[in-house]
Amino acid sequence: KTIFVSGATGFIALYVVNDLLQSGYKVIGSVRSQDKADRLSKQFKYNQNLSFVIVPDIAKAGAFDEAFEKFGKEISAVIHTASPFHFSTTEYEKDLLIPAVNGTKGILESIKKYAATFVERVVVTSSYAAICDFASDSDKTNTFTEESWNMVTWEEAKGDALTAYCGSKTFAEKEAWDFLESNKDTVSFKLTTINPVFVLGPQLFDENVSSQLNTSCEHVNNIVHSTPESKLDEVLFGGYIDVRDVSKAHQLAFERENLAGQRLILSEGRFTLQDIADTINADFPELRGKIVVGKPGSSKEKLSSIAKLDNSKTKALLGFKFKTFREAVDDTTAQILKMEKK
Ligand code: NDP
Repeated sequence: KTIFVSGATGFIALYVVNDLLQSGYKVIGSVRSQDKADRLSKQFKYNQNLSFVIVPDIAKAGAFDEAFEKFGKEISAVIHTASPFHFSTTEYEKDLLIPAVNGTKGILESIKKYAATFVERVVVTSSYAAICDFASDSDKTNTFTEESWNMVTWEEAKGDALTAYCGSKTFAEKEAWDFLESNKDTVSFKLTTINPVFVLGPQLFDENVSSQLNTSCEHVNNIVHSTPESKLDEVLFGGYIDVRDVSKAHQLAFERENLAGQRLILSEGRFTLQDIADTINADFPELRGKIVVGKPGSSKEKLSSIAKLDNSKTKALLGFKFKTFREAVDDTTAQILKMEKK
């Protein structure tokens, strides 16, 4: 069977590609340039089951047409991970909202045009950001589940980078469910969305560790490179999940019948930056005295004052145990230190 993975260069997608290859699937990955394809081919040791298509910009209409015209008949499942995840822009609509929405709409349109009867399953990497907004997540009286939706409007999403990113994930996921509803007589695929909280964990390839990591792992990287004088952002909190579990869920999402039609919230618990600092200080004696300490143990109080996240439905559906916060933070930190030879 052949699986199409968009955004194959991404932090999460690299694990997905790797797991699929190890399970014996053929993988077609979309990347933005030939250079990126060449680098990945080499990293995956020229695996014969891995090939690439070049899709320079998912925001462009028809971006995936060529790929599906050529290979659509071979593809049985599509995993759409490509979407901008950074806050380094002031053009929120152009750089965050539009690529996310057009990318999702575009890949589904291409499936409809060229592979409507061949693609059986589609998995879209959405986000916990499509489940709730930050204000509601700070309200202790709320409980979020797989039924919840972020109520952000397009207008609000144009206001700042963080809201724009959350909006981009919300509108892109809505696009996917709406597309399926309007085209259910034409396409044969079933849809599953994966809605992860902050994804932590090591990079698949050690050599991909650079001074700046992907947006979610950068929180760990910042603390590893902090000083005793650094301040922890006390406002930031979130859920955590290990990238290796996120990858596993993407694969099960198209393999298992019981996951069709579901939104899966991937979260193993909640954390603050203080928890990252506490874990690193406890487990890496070589960093003690060199990095921020904050107020050890103070995160409990913060976490008891925020909304609850109930993803028991997802956990029951998936049926495997997620990695712990400690494993995720320690493995991320150990890899950074190894590559910096600290
Ligand atoms: P990365 O930034 O590592 O991956 C993003 C991928 O999308 C890259 O392959 C990138 O290509 C591609 N991409 C972005 N914009 C475009 C564009 N305009 N045209 C073509 N390709 C594009 O992040 P992650 O691996 O963390 O994220 C993957 C997915 O998971 C995203 O959909 C993200 O929203 C979602 N997610 C991530 C979470 C996390 O904590 N990491 C949490 C919840 C959801 P390139 O490398 O060439 O720029």
